[in-house]
Amino acid sequence: MTLAGPVKLDAVIFGGGAAGLWLLDDLRRFGYRALLLECAALGAGQTIASQGIIHGGLKYSLGGLLTESAEAVAKMPELWRRCLEGRDQPDLSDTRIRADACHIWRTRSLRSWLGFSGAKVSLRVRPQKIEKTVWPAALRGASSVMRIEEPVIDPASFLHGLFQANRSRVLRIDEQTGLEFTFKKTKKNGGVDTVLMRSPANGTRMVLRPRHVILAAGQGNEDLRRRLNLPGGTMQRRGVQMVVARGKLPAVFGHCVDGARTRVTITTIDNFHGETVWQIGGKVSEDGVNMGPTELIRHAIKELHHTLPAVDLSAVEWTTYKIDKAEAATPGKRRPDHEHAAIDGNIVTAWPTKLVLAPVLARRIVDMIGKPAGHNVSHGSGVWLRESSGETWTSAADDHDPDYPDQVLAEWPRPRVAAPPWELATKWYTNP
Ligand SMILES: Cc1cc2nc3c(=O)[nH]c(=O)nc-3n(C[C@H](O)[C@H](O)[C@H](O)COP(=O)(O)OP(=O)(O)OC[C@H]3O[C@@H](n4cnc5c(N)ncnc54)[C@H](O)[C@@H]3O)c2cc1C
Repeated sequence: MTLAGPVKLDAVIFGGGAAGLWLLDDLRRFGYRALLLECAALGAGQTIASQGIIHGGLKYSLGGLLTESAEAVAKMPELWRRCLEGRDQPDLSDTRIRADACHIWRTRSLRSWLGFSGAKVSLRVRPQKIEKTVWPAALRGASSVMRIEEPVIDPASFLHGLFQANRSRVLRIDEQTGLEFTFKKTKKNGGVDTVLMRSPANGTRMVLRPRHVILAAGQGNEDLRRRLNLPGGTMQRRGVQMVVARGKLPAVFGHCVDGARTRVTITTIDNFHGETVWQIGGKVSEDGVNMGPTELIRHAIKELHHTLPAVDLSAVEWTTYKIDKAEAATPGKRRPDHEHAAIDGNIVTAWPTKLVLAPVLARRIVDMIGKPAGHNVSHGSGVWLRESSGETWTSAADDHDPDYPDQVLAEWPRPRVAAPPWELATKWYTNP
């Protein structure tokens, strides 16, 4: 049986969702020797189930205040747009854009109006009022409609693009039977010395000796921390139950605002069979977390009749999916304002909080772990200027790094990208 290694690395990342893949891409461009290990399918937790809205803060400023959350995401649409257009790194130009912008609309209730006007005054990127003649047909019946420059991406193609760009360094693992850790003798807590992996395909073993271990495994971080003898209680789960509709539906992207909440947030997708699918989140999905599927669907239909009175829902099929948002624990289990990264020994535990904050999280982790051991390697291509410190590092295209066990890596199984929840749903309801 082959035993490869120990392979010396700057970082081993656990988890191939938005956070892990973005970080891997950054690290490799900055000249770090890094591998990403995925135990299921890429994005199999939250990323594939998300609505893909590149928020610019609207959702968090509805009460009229510029909250910390709103400030944290304010610059994100511009940064993402540069990457989506291939003008910045990582190059996300293969990511499908579901919509260039979102709409926000309000119903005729007074509460609805209050939140809406608050959002207008507090945002840096303000929603633009649009003339009734150009309102999307689905929004006829609203009392006011605005356009907000928040693009909507397809998470599956986003994951796929980042995976393809870093394929040589993304490996599938069996975390139950194919993963063991040894710990440094000198550090009591969180000092990982080696990671021993067994290939899920043929039993080949490989030993990694990372300077840093990065936990970017969403909900999986809790269990990984337990295995690494780190304290619990650092993660919270906030459950939602999303509603999914499929059938003859118009394209809708955006939020119906009611007071300080988004009553519904709708995004539109074509499924694998070319049918139109709505993903319906917002308050409906929070209200519905403990409801049965048919009860929630009935509630959602009522909400849609109020918020989108012009849309005919008579020939639509419905399903729901439950999912937990995994985040850093906060007092009172409120939504954290920022991305989170904390270091114990040589282990970093990270949650982005939002998909849009994956780039901010990646930069924060780079700053946390310091320079790569071989940052002046000569086989790099191009030069990378790190904005935060002004340092110039050689970017290492490490595909031909002689210290990697190329044959073992080439034969190691790769994870696939996760399937979206509506593709996996087996029970669809008509007239529930
Ligand atoms: C319904 C819903 C809608 C959302 N909509 C939006 C939105 O519109 N805009 C926005 O900005 N944010 C949105 N979010 C939040 C966003 O999806 C998450 O913040 C983000 O995707 C989290 O990414 P992640 O990489 O940390 O986790 P995940 O996407 O959960 O990825 C974790 C990965 O780690 C892997 N893993 C787990 N355990 C292990 C292990 N032991 N070893 C190796 N790998 C492991 C998993 O298989 C998975 O691939 C939404 C979230 C939900 C639930």
